[in-house]
Amino acid sequence: MNTEDKELNNSELKTNFIYQEIEADLAQNKNNGKVLTRFPPEPNGYLHIGHAKSICLNFGIARDFGGGCNLRFDDTNPVKEDVEYVDSIMEDVHWLGFDWVGEPRYASDYFQQLYEWAVKLIKDGKAYVDDQTAEQIAAQKGSPTVPGQESPYRNRSVAENLELFERMKRGEFADGQCVLRAKIDMASPNMHMRDPLMYRIIHRSHHRTGDKWCIYPMYDFAHGQSDFIEGITHSICTLEFEVHRPLYDWFLDRVLDGAPEPETRNRQIEFARLNINYTVMSKRKLLRLVKEGIVAGWDDPRMPTICGLRRRGYTPKSVRDFAERVGVAKRDNVIDMALLEHCVREDLNKTAPRVMAVLDPVRVVVDNYPADRVEMVEVENNPEDPTQGTRTLPFCNELLIERDDFMENPPKKYFRLAPGTEVRLKGAYIVRCVGVDKDAQGNITTIHVTYDADTLSGMPGSERKVKGTLHWVSARHAIAAEVRVYDRLFNDPEPGGHEAEGHDFEEYLNPDSLTVITTARVEPGLATARPLDHFQFQRLGYFNVDPDSEREGKLIFNKTVGLKDSWGKAAK
Ligand code: ATP
Ligand code: MG
Repeated sequence: MNTEDKELNNSELKTNFIYQEIEADLAQNKNNGKVLTRFPPEPNGYLHIGHAKSICLNFGIARDFGGGCNLRFDDTNPVKEDVEYVDSIMEDVHWLGFDWVGEPRYASDYFQQLYEWAVKLIKDGKAYVDDQTAEQIAAQKGSPTVPGQESPYRNRSVAENLELFERMKRGEFADGQCVLRAKIDMASPNMHMRDPLMYRIIHRSHHRTGDKWCIYPMYDFAHGQSDFIEGITHSICTLEFEVHRPLYDWFLDRVLDGAPEPETRNRQIEFARLNINYTVMSKRKLLRLVKEGIVAGWDDPRMPTICGLRRRGYTPKSVRDFAERVGVAKRDNVIDMALLEHCVREDLNKTAPRVMAVLDPVRVVVDNYPADRVEMVEVENNPEDPTQGTRTLPFCNELLIERDDFMENPPKKYFRLAPGTEVRLKGAYIVRCVGVDKDAQGNITTIHVTYDADTLSGMPGSERKVKGTLHWVSARHAIAAEVRVYDRLFNDPEPGGHEAEGHDFEEYLNPDSLTVITTARVEPGLATARPLDHFQFQRLGYFNVDPDSEREGKLIFNKTVGLKDSWGKAAK
């Protein structure tokens, strides 16, 4: 176990109710003391931060109980699924720092077994082929307080059902022409027990089974049995599946009817799904943002996807830490985005090297510094981590500082640069403003300063204190960069929460969620920065190198998060 894992291990998680349930099972030696969980995504989109929570929980349980966790793709719907998604899901799980037991698994690996079980149910009089349309079936469903109506095909003979199901499998019917349903109870107070669909016809190639099948099991007929086939001991899932649990049990009881009692029978435990404010988390909605070109792709840094967070500059540790802090709840709640930002800020504060970057530069000339001199000044890479050492930066008579770090007529308590005042240039000298040049429109083009040669940082004499310290770069050495600054993608705390009133989540898009700054100049050492490298731009925030840098042949940074911690403050 590496040190990172240990950090995760101390965990509040250990006292959560799921851990308690598992501990109780182990105390009774259920499943012969074995713990096997699974993460079961449907490969119909990229994973988001909600999935990250589920991944951390399932793989975390495996780690903490000395068990394992399977990765299983619940690929029962060939219409929406794709290998692109399969690959991205594996990449994201690995990036988060987890690994599954053996090879990835697929519900489609079990299609033959599921089919045989369906045939068994038919033979046992527990399933029937229904020729009605989806609309007719829906119309007979009833409501939680009104019993449903039985299908006119419900009492077909076993022989007829077997033959029809066989013909469905052979491809003799069109999509939707008939379905296989479980024969349970059309009056059940649990709507999921009202003769749910087991199989439907879809004439469509599957990303793994190709054209072998044209009947596909419904998720509900595949999911529980897939867990059972794999010997999963604890099926952790989100609350909406609580009402599916009796159905999963019903299917498994019928499937196992007559078979010897299995060694492991998976137990389902539900927890509240993660919601975060100012974003949407359903894959269907995220897919719309991508398809409609509202964002640049699944990995757009404004997306709550794992690949979006990665590209934005989130670290695996910060995401795991977040998952841990939000804990496991039994009731739905909404987590403040500021907590996620707090977690990445905390991690990057310890790890990200400090560098200087000026986003909106104004030229500074040091009048008393020799024009032909360039001096290398030494600066610390990370005051939080002395092992990161120091680097040197070129200092000369032509510098750049942020335009808003200078004011001609400053208010009281303005500790940056102003006519006649002094500031320290970080890692270099104290300078005093002695004048400005302006263009015909009155814009400041150059700020003139003089430097105090006795005040080089780290040297005797550097103790002289001034109120303000500014970041800067050498105008003659700095390199150009593009900087992408992000704001929330939505300006409503719950963009998906207004559907009942007829409002689409896209009505709440924030038109200013992306600002591209093309004027930035950064210290020369950043020329060798690699995609996804993290930095703290001093006084500005945390930034990382966008992979577009390589494609576009220029340095592009994403702003991960600012320095100011609204969550930390609120928590205090
Ligand atoms: P979405 O509704 O966002 O499309 P989903 O639940 O359909 O997601 P799946 O691929 O079925 O996506 O999810 C895989 C696993 O991740 C499931 O076990 C599911 O419970 C879990 N999961 C999905 N969303 C969340 C969430 N917001 N919080 C916690 N777990 C989640
Ligand atoms: Mg799902």
